[in-house]
Amino acid sequence: MTELLLGTGLVSGYGRIEALHSVDVAVDAGQAVTVIGPNGAGKSTLLRTLAGLSRPWQGTVEFDGTDVTHWSAERRARAGLVLVPEGRHVFAGLTVEENLRLGGYAAGRAATTPGLNAVYDLFPALAVRQRQPAGTLSGGEQQMVAIGRGLMSRPKLMLLDEPSLGLAPQAVRLVTDALVELAGRGTTLVLVEQSASVAFQVAHRGYLMERGDLVASGPVDHLRKDPRVLRAYLGGP
Ligand code: ATP
Repeated sequence: MTELLLGTGLVSGYGRIEALHSVDVAVDAGQAVTVIGPNGAGKSTLLRTLAGLSRPWQGTVEFDGTDVTHWSAERRARAGLVLVPEGRHVFAGLTVEENLRLGGYAAGRAATTPGLNAVYDLFPALAVRQRQPAGTLSGGEQQMVAIGRGLMSRPKLMLLDEPSLGLAPQAVRLVTDALVELAGRGTTLVLVEQSASVAFQVAHRGYLMERGDLVASGPVDHLRKDPRVLRAYLGGP
């Protein structure tokens, strides 16, 4: 299998604080991979580095066979490496549909009716709110818009930053179901989650991150039994 996304020896941080200590990640095409770990482990920093929002101090990012380490986030998005930010970053004053159309536009792709319909099929809650300003939606619906916006750009790989964060249980369920469906269709995903439950439902493979290092990796069925994961999430010894 060929790796679609490869991070090698990634070191990154803020000011003098090193938040990633030489991290290696590999994501195969068609795979859903999760990065889990406690607060402050460096998950968001890793995702931002892969997306091009943070420049690594050392190391390289390769996407689809090309070294993109020095590419901007916009250029990476046009190449199909798309970051889905938290739902609260939708454009509140624009309608659901306008937000979705912008997703395609931002990646240099026209927003097509089949593209919009595919998002509405995945998220029926959005179909009935097409003309509603996104700012009037619930947190869960805004997260759906954020994911939908990513899909509109027809990505080769979607990076998702904590899609379940702060959502009501019912909304977590809907967003998780949609991600399970996308993963099942072979959409390549990298999912950063604090909720191991969401992460393990969606992903095939996972990495556990602690204090800037990847300390465990493997198929989620193995990872969920790893003592370090149990310790991190279930308060075990
Ligand atoms: P969380 O789930 O809480 O977001 P995380 O695993 O995503 O945690 P990061 O946000 O990547 O962790 O943070 C990694 C480290 O970098 C932490 O020590 C954090 O305090 C630090 N850090 C993150 N963002 C900044 C910033 N903008 N300025 C300075 N330090 C930062």
